[in-house]
Amino acid sequence: MLDTRRLGRTGIEASLMGFGGIPIMRVGMDEAREAIAEALSLGVTFIDTARGYGDSEKKIGEALKCLGARVFLASKSPKRDGDGIVEDLKVSLANLGVKSIDLYQVHCVNTEEHYARVLGPGGALEALNRLRAEGKVHHIGFTTHNLALAAKAVESGVFETIQVLYNFIEPEAGKEVIPMALERGIGVLAMKPFAGGCIERYDLALRFALSTPGVIAIPGMATADEVRRNTEVARHPQALTAGEMKIAVAERERLGKIYCRRCDYCQPCPSEIPIAFALHIPSIRKRMGEAMMQTDFIRSVHEKIGSCTECGECEDRCPFDLPVRDLIKEARQILAEVLE
Ligand code: SF4
Ligand code: SF4
Repeated sequence: MLDTRRLGRTGIEASLMGFGGIPIMRVGMDEAREAIAEALSLGVTFIDTARGYGDSEKKIGEALKCLGARVFLASKSPKRDGDGIVEDLKVSLANLGVKSIDLYQVHCVNTEEHYARVLGPGGALEALNRLRAEGKVHHIGFTTHNLALAAKAVESGVFETIQVLYNFIEPEAGKEVIPMALERGIGVLAMKPFAGGCIERYDLALRFALSTPGVIAIPGMATADEVRRNTEVARHPQALTAGEMKIAVAERERLGKIYCRRCDYCQPCPSEIPIAFALHIPSIRKRMGEAMMQTDFIRSVHEKIGSCTECGECEDRCPFDLPVRDLIKEARQILAEVLE
């Protein structure tokens, strides 16, 4: 069985490794049910999904109904306004087959503008506070790829959890944001412990996240095999040895030359290409599968990416010296294969 950790002041005492709900989009219902059943039997008690993860919520709801099981459930909405998030919550509850949800999070708030809308009059937070008072949402969380906004959300004191990128390629959250959140009783969920599937040494990657006290890591899983593999690692969440740290550093150096940290310093692109998203297309294909990439948004990225003039402005601005133009070409090639 897995150790448990308290998710800040929510009082939720969940397995230190949760089940990340993105990858079950790419498998059928039977496989998804098997993966979830295996996770539950091995002691996973926390499942995280989102309105934006295709049919993930539905599959989780159906699996839990078949299994007659109850776990801590978290989902998210990309809506920034109150009415929008109320509607999204209705859909989430129906999909998951529950009357209330343990944690509902505002999803991927990556810009100041979106942050202001969420917290402003008529924004998502106001509605979530109402929904919590009505008992439909037990706790309110915040997710972002932007550490400055994560810090701001922690300082605001209005969210009970934060969900941030945390892996040995992107360890920055461990320096200030995670300790600050934990100190203030805000629960911390570590997203993408495998850097969206880019890190090959999944065992070291998972231990890196799990050996941080107070953090609950939520690696995405799609099959029972992946669940067994990760659970075995999560049973022994000791810190990396000096030798293992060297391997992690070598992996960081290898990926550091091609891995996009989603910081957006390369923007604005004159062709309005969402560069960070485009650079994660290879990992998105790996995690979501090609069928789930047939969305309007990904089609619009495909159209925009075709207008890259190779001006190189993005490369001048990227603090990690990524070969953005080459990576854009690679993404363009993948999108052509998947969508054309
Ligand atoms: S090289 Fe392409 S992606 Fe980069 S800034 Fe220019 S147009 Fe945008
Ligand atoms: S390409 Fe570079 S600057 Fe742009 S988001 Fe990725 S890491 Fe940041």
